[in-house]
Amino acid sequence: MLDSFFLGYPAPACAPDDSSSVLADVSVSMYEPSPAPAPPTPLSILRSVYGYEGFRPGQAPIIERIMAGGDAALIMPTGGGKSLCFQIPALLRPGVALVVSPLIALMQDQVDALRQLGVAAAFLNSSLSARDKQDVLRRLEEGTLDLLYAAPERVMMPAFLELLDTTPLSLIAIDEAHCISQWGHDFRPEYLQLSDLRRRYPDVPCLAVTATADAPTQEEILKRLDFGADDLFVTGFDRPNIRYAVVVKNNPKQQLLRFIEQEHPDEAGIVYCLSRKEVEDTAAWLQKQGLEALPYHAGLTAREREANQTRFLREEGLIIVATVAFGMGIDKPNVRFVAHLNIPKSLEAYYQETGRAGRDGLPADAWMTYSLRDVVLMRKMLEGDGLNGAHKWAEQHKLNALIGYCETAECRRKVLLTYFGDDPEGPCGHCDTCLNPVETWDGTVAAQKVFSCIVRTGQRFGAAHIVDVLLGKDTAKVQRFGHDRLPTFGVGDDRSATAWRSVIRQLVAANYIRVDISGYGGLSLTAAAKPVLQGAETLELRTDPTPARKRTAKTKVKTTSVLTDPADQALFATLREVRLGLAREQEVPPYVIFHDRTLAAMAEHRPQTLDAMSTLSGVGAVKLERYGSVFLEALLNAE
Ligand code: ADP
Ligand code: ZN
Repeated sequence: MLDSFFLGYPAPACAPDDSSSVLADVSVSMYEPSPAPAPPTPLSILRSVYGYEGFRPGQAPIIERIMAGGDAALIMPTGGGKSLCFQIPALLRPGVALVVSPLIALMQDQVDALRQLGVAAAFLNSSLSARDKQDVLRRLEEGTLDLLYAAPERVMMPAFLELLDTTPLSLIAIDEAHCISQWGHDFRPEYLQLSDLRRRYPDVPCLAVTATADAPTQEEILKRLDFGADDLFVTGFDRPNIRYAVVVKNNPKQQLLRFIEQEHPDEAGIVYCLSRKEVEDTAAWLQKQGLEALPYHAGLTAREREANQTRFLREEGLIIVATVAFGMGIDKPNVRFVAHLNIPKSLEAYYQETGRAGRDGLPADAWMTYSLRDVVLMRKMLEGDGLNGAHKWAEQHKLNALIGYCETAECRRKVLLTYFGDDPEGPCGHCDTCLNPVETWDGTVAAQKVFSCIVRTGQRFGAAHIVDVLLGKDTAKVQRFGHDRLPTFGVGDDRSATAWRSVIRQLVAANYIRVDISGYGGLSLTAAAKPVLQGAETLELRTDPTPARKRTAKTKVKTTSVLTDPADQALFATLREVRLGLAREQEVPPYVIFHDRTLAAMAEHRPQTLDAMSTLSGVGAVKLERYGSVFLEALLNAE
């Protein structure tokens, strides 16, 4: 139960479903002689327990639905606030809420955070000692738990189900619900059994939540959980606080370093690489440059991986360099950037991986370096992975969409959202292409020069040699094959080698040119090149921004950009130290004490009393009681 000292009344004995709108704050009638405390409502819980002012878009209708005993499948972007949608009904409805969650780290994190709020929450998984497990089961039987997190395979054990049969359930929440879809990218067979769970407790309200589900996955969630079409709630995919950028690869480690140093010094971030070796190299190199970077990949021992992950969660400003093995279940809200040193597999994967940035709603970056080589490598992997027929076609289609995103001259967010079926109104105004509009030019003649050079050299040479011939370079290879006698020799001396490489990259990306991925990367033309070569079709190309181009001060967005005053920034740093000390004592991640956003608000508004502090977003009753005075002391001592 919620600690009654801050609510002032016991938890309700029955759900207030008779109230027509449970979200309205109930006011006390004037005529009652001694007014009984108003029963808690979702809004009052949001304010007293979480310390938040109001609901975010999309939360209220879901909570209302569950409070009324209904079901819902909620598709809401990462950081949108899905957890609150089941946590608040769990606190208001009688009985315990069963939260099915696929990952131990995820359960641990949510339970840590809930306990900090004074909520009676626990989890059951293999990391518990026999004694702790007994303790949780005892609390479950006693009815003193409000939320119980467990993995699906545990939930479906016969003994556990028997226990559940005699336990009043307030609701069933299914986290990462897309895992139920056999067509999805994270299918988990254990999730299929949740259909049985649902059938066993048909009257218990059920909420399935996920950040990623395309239309077929959504349909499958509804079907497997026996939901109706009107149980689906989709809130759109936009993550407005994430700034998207793609840079053409040119000494990627240096580019990464410059990006981190300029945009995110001393801040936490994830760098994704393709291979274990690249992870090791990059982490070691960043360390040498004086940054705190840790590797994470499947080649490390389980213990090393866990140690690095724990450090990433519990310390401030660490960088984790990882393969895609890292990230699922990482709930750290203040990851300020996600950087990709190689292109990801698809836009779905990209959206999910970059979604780990900025869960707290503060500005964050999704940054990627991209090159022709990446595309070729990716196509090669696709060729080699034994797929065939429709599946292969689908994968190729996905890769092409990703390349389109990298090569676009339009707003990146728009490309991304449109791909996911949203209908954004216009350009977002703060992705790289919006901030530094990409110039396009009529590339028809340039493309014709490249095409004819490829044809005349026999459609078997790689990009480097084609560029040499275009530039009229007298290399050994040119000599050996007599390519200096071709009419295309030197026809491209009006452009630099870099410019020609950019042209070729774009022509490959747009599928005019094929790269021989089994051999030495020889270029040949696809059918699409013919009309361009014959002058029947024109094409537009983009001018790649020069890498040295500096961002203007105006476009610089940082965590502390909410704090522009250096004195506030210094105070923010002090408060972060205080928080880290408290977190270390309790062995929990700092962000479960207070979020960055709350610390920033403290630094800016500098409350001088506990009362004033309690008005800040993220300061609920229990946290005020526990930590208020420690932070107040730091604030009172500030200059
Ligand atoms: P999701 O599960 O959708 O990724 P979370 O439930 O973890 O998102 O919420 C993301 C963050 O937003 C959390 O720190 C949460 O406390 C905060 N949050 C959720 N709802 C609100 C709200 N109504 N007002 C302010 N902050 C909120
Ligand atoms: Zn944009």
